[in-house]
Amino acid sequence: IGMLAVTNSFPNAFTNEDLRIFSIISRHSSIAINNTLLHKKIKELSITDGLTGLYVYRYFNDMLDKEILRSARYQQPFSLIMLDLDGFKEVNDSFGHLQGDTVLREVAQILKRVCREVDIVARYGGEEFTIILPATDMEGAYILADRIRMVIKNYAFGTKDNIISLTASMGVASYPESASTKIDLIKQVDRALYKVKADGRNGVCRALKET
Ligand code: GH3
Ligand code: MG
Ligand code: MG
Repeated sequence: IGMLAVTNSFPNAFTNEDLRIFSIISRHSSIAINNTLLHKKIKELSITDGLTGLYVYRYFNDMLDKEILRSARYQQPFSLIMLDLDGFKEVNDSFGHLQGDTVLREVAQILKRVCREVDIVARYGGEEFTIILPATDMEGAYILADRIRMVIKNYAFGTKDNIISLTASMGVASYPESASTKIDLIKQVDRALYKVKADGRNGVCRALKET
C-alpha cells in the first residue's frame, strides 16, 4: 500500500521501542489509505454503467445541472446529443442478447473514442446514449454527431462470420439556444431525435430554437 521512511543522521538513533511505534503508525496508516482507496472505487462504480463502462443516467443528470450553471455563469454555450440506435431490437432477435450486449459495448467505445476527454458520455437507457459537450455550440455539436453517425454506419459490428450493420439517429440541442432549463433541453433534444426517426432514421437533427 505504501512505504514509511524514518531517518536520522546519527547512527543507531532508533530503539526497538521506536520501531514498535513506527510499526503501529504504519499499520494504522495503511488501514486509512485502504479505506480511502475503497471509497474511491465504490464512488467510481456507483456512477459507472455495468455493461458499457459509460456514466450512468444519474451522473449525467447531475452533470447537466452543473453544466447549465457553468454555462450561464461564463456566458458560454454547451450542447447535448441524444442518440438512439436504429432497429436495435432486431439485432437481439437475430443474433441474441449476448451479441446485442457486445454491440452496445462497442458503440460505447466508439463514442468514447470520437468524443473529447472533457465530454460526458453516458448511457441514458437501454440503447440510448447522451453526450454533454461543454463549450460547444450547435454547429460544433452537429458536426460531431454526424461524425459519430458515419463511424457507426461504417463499422463492422459482430463477428467475421456474422457482420452486423447498424445505424444511429441523433438529436442535437444547445444551451441556451434551444432551451434554458434542463427539462426543456431534454424535451427539445428528444423531439429532434424523434424527427430523425420519423424521417427514416440514420441521421442528425438540430433542435428548434426556443421561441
Ligand atoms: P428504433 O429504430 O425505433 O429505435 O427501433 P429499436 O428496435 O431500436 O427501438 P426499441 O426502443 O423498440 O428497442 C430497443 C431495444 O433495445 C429493446 C431491447 O431489446 C434492446 N435493449 C435495450 N437494452 C439492452 C441491453 O442492455 N442489452 C441488449 N442486448 N439489448 C438491449
Ligand atoms: Mg430506444
Ligand atoms: Mg432504438
